[in-house]
Amino acid sequence: MKQTELEVATLVFLEHYDGPCPHCSSHLKRIHSNQCSECGGTLALSLAKPFRCTPWLLFTFGLISSIGVCVDQLGLFFAARLYQGSPLVWKWILPELILILGLSAGLVFWWKLRVWAQGLGVGWGRAIGLAGILMPLFWFNVLFWAFVLTL
Ligand SMILES: [Zn+2]
Repeated sequence: MKQTELEVATLVFLEHYDGPCPHCSSHLKRIHSNQCSECGGTLALSLAKPFRCTPWLLFTFGLISSIGVCVDQLGLFFAARLYQGSPLVWKWILPELILILGLSAGLVFWWKLRVWAQGLGVGWGRAIGLAGILMPLFWFNVLFWAFVLTL
């Protein structure tokens, strides 16, 4: 079987490698195969971008978590219907559904802006990141108080 350039580069790298296996952490030293001798995991040379928590990611987290808050609260209304026979109150359910649709559309829109968001300045980045962190708390309180005030 013909080896690819990546396999050849990996083998050349591994012949000089002295460190842990990325799969099982056992010590590898100057091995002559792209398989870990302990766990059998395949080893491949790659360039990796280190993880960076960006404002775009924090805002995405806020959108997804806010959808989760809505789904959780909707679940409580349906659980009350199931276990206590409470009627489904559409004045409480409808805002949750509308918000889920709005946040989902926002998530699609925000996903398309991820390249644009990389060029944001530090101030805007911090503001958007903070807004993302606070978004689930904000929407939880809006829905909670809309529920409490219309009991
Ligand atoms: Zn291993």
